[in-house]
Amino acid sequence: MIKLQIDTVTLLIMTLVLLFIYIMFTVIKELSTKKPEVRRRTIAIHSCINNDYEIRKEFKIGDYVGKVIGKCPRCGAALIIKAIYTEVEERPTKSIT
Ligand SMILES: [Zn+2]
Repeated sequence: MIKLQIDTVTLLIMTLVLLFIYIMFTVIKELSTKKPEVRRRTIAIHSCINNDYEIRKEFKIGDYVGKVIGKCPRCGAALIIKAIYTEVEERPTKSIT
């Protein structure tokens, strides 16, 4: 009866040790794999209504599609925001070797 108890405890300890080792490996693996640095830029395309001029600029708070920015430097017509989108820039991280 006593022997059976010891065996059960030993088995339980072994299971816990194995589980601990598994968790440790998972944590180490997770920490060693660095996620690539991601940069996000929100771009607003400023375009002339006559489509002869177009410029990409950083999005500013208050910008919206169709907003009149000013006058086209080429023909003098209205310059509006044609599109707003987010640009994702991925930078590969240097591997530690
Ligand atoms: Zn124009």
